[in-house]
Amino acid sequence: MGTVKNIQSELDDERIFNTTSSLLLDPEEFRRQGHMVVDFLADYFHNVGKYPVRSQVEPGYLRKTLPEAAPNTPEPLENILRDVYKDILPGITHWQSPNFFAYFPCISSTPGILGEILSSGLNVVGFNWIASPAATELESIVMDWFGKLLRLPTSFLFSGGGGGVLQGTTCEAMVCTIVAAREKMLGKIGRDNFGKLVVYSSDQTHFSLKKAAQIAGINPHNIRVIETTKADLFALSPEALQSSILCDIEQGLIPLYLCATLGTTATTAVDPIRRLCEIAGENDIWVHIDGAYAGSACICSEYQHYLDGVENADSFSLNSHKWLFSTLDCCCLWVKHPTDLTKALSTNPECLRNNATESKQVVDYKDWQIALSRRFRALKLWIIFRSYGVANLRNFIRGAVNMAKGFEGLVAKDERFEIMVPRNFSLVCFRVSPTAIEKHLKASHGDEGVNEFNAKVLEAINSSGEVFMTHAVVGGVYMMRFAVGAPLTEFRHVEMAWKVIQDHATSMLNDAA
Ligand code: PLP
Repeated sequence: MGTVKNIQSELDDERIFNTTSSLLLDPEEFRRQGHMVVDFLADYFHNVGKYPVRSQVEPGYLRKTLPEAAPNTPEPLENILRDVYKDILPGITHWQSPNFFAYFPCISSTPGILGEILSSGLNVVGFNWIASPAATELESIVMDWFGKLLRLPTSFLFSGGGGGVLQGTTCEAMVCTIVAAREKMLGKIGRDNFGKLVVYSSDQTHFSLKKAAQIAGINPHNIRVIETTKADLFALSPEALQSSILCDIEQGLIPLYLCATLGTTATTAVDPIRRLCEIAGENDIWVHIDGAYAGSACICSEYQHYLDGVENADSFSLNSHKWLFSTLDCCCLWVKHPTDLTKALSTNPECLRNNATESKQVVDYKDWQIALSRRFRALKLWIIFRSYGVANLRNFIRGAVNMAKGFEGLVAKDERFEIMVPRNFSLVCFRVSPTAIEKHLKASHGDEGVNEFNAKVLEAINSSGEVFMTHAVVGGVYMMRFAVGAPLTEFRHVEMAWKVIQDHATSMLNDAA
C-alpha cells in the first residue's frame, strides 16, 4: 500500500508525464534527436582511431559514476549524449577502430546501421507471415540471393526446396539444428533412446556447440571433442571422426550430429567437408557447417572450393555481422529440409491462427527459430546488398585478405617472429620465436616459458591502447592472432600495428636479456 506522500508524488509525476507524452513518438522531435545521434556517431567514426582500442577502465568503473537510481524527470538528449561521451565511451572497446585486430571483426557500415534504424523504426514483429508479410518475404528472398552468391547448392534455397532464416547468433543456429536433428532421430528410434545420442566436434569447434548441445539436452558425456593435430593444420580428421563414431556404435550409442567448421575461431582451419559428410552420411548423422566468420569469404570464387561437398550437409550458417557489414546481430542459417526444423520448433496457438498459415503457402519464421518474436533483419541485409553491390562486397573481403597478406609478409621478414599456421583468410597467427627468446634470455625456458613470454608481449601491446589483438592456444602453443577486417582499417594501420608489435617485443627482449 502506498503512503499518502508516495501517492501525492506519483500524481505529480503524472502531471509531468502528461506534458511529455507527446514526445513518445513525435515525428519532428524524432527528426531533431535522430540528427543529433547521427552527428554523434559520425564524429565518433572520425575520431575512433584516436581512442585506446581496448578499454582501459577498471571493473565497476561505471557504478562509481552513475546515480543509484533512474531519474524521475526527463533529461534532454544533449545531456545524455554528453554522458555517453564522458562516461560510456571510456568503457567501450572500439571494435570499429582501424587499430582493432582482435577476435574476428564485427563490422559496422553505413547501410548496416541505416538498415538497423529502419528496422527499429518500423519495429514489426514478423513471427508469422501475416504479422508483416514483407518481413517474411524479404527474408526468404535475401536468403536465396545470399545463398546464390555463395554458390550453395539449390537444395539449400527456397527455390530448390530448402531455405534460409536470419537468427541472432551461431549458437542459436546450432541449438535449432541440433533440436531438429534430435527430433528427426528420436522419431525413428524412439524417445527412450534420448540419452544415447552423440554429438561430434573437434577441439577447434567453437565452444557454442557445447552450449547448444547442452541446451538441446544432449548427455554431456556424449559430446565428443576430437583432437586435431598440427600435421592436419588443426582441421578435423575424417579418420579420427570415423573411429570415434565406430567406438560409440560399439558401445550402443547413437551418432546424431556433427559440427564441421569452415574457418575455426583460433586459426581459421577448414574442416574437409566432403569427406566428413561422406562418413556422416554412412551413419545417418546430421552435418552442420559453421562458417561464422569465414563463410562470408565464399562470396568470392577463390574461396568457394572450401564449400566442396556442402551439398551433402544438412545445414550451413555464417554470421554476416562478422565480415559482411551487417552490424550485430545477423546469423544466416540455411537448411536443406526446412520441415526438419519446423517439425521440431512449430507451435500453433489459437491466437496466431490465420488463413495464410492454414493455406500452407507461406513461411512462418517463428517455426524456424527459438523465440516467437523476431526482428526485421532482412532489411539490413537487403540494403547492404543493394547499397554496395556484390562487386564491392567481394572487393572489401579481398581488401582485408590482402592487408593480412601484407602483414604476414612483414612478420616473415623479421626473423625474431614466426608464423604459426598457414593463413587462409584475413587472420595471421604468429609469435615471438623460441629462438629469439632463448637468444635474449640466454637460456631455454621450455614451451611454457615461450608461451608466457608471448602472453606478456601481447598484454603489453594491448595495455598500450594503440592496437588490440587477442590470442589462441592451439596444440599447447600460445599464439597472437592478428585479424584484419575492421571497416576503417587501411594498410597504413597494419604497418603501424606491426611497428607497435615490434617495438614492444624489442623492448621486452632487451629487458629480459
Ligand atoms: N563459430 C565460430 C567459428 C566463431 O568464430 C564464433 C565466434 O567468433 C562463433 C561460432 C560464435 O558465434 P555466436 O556468437 O554468433 O554464437
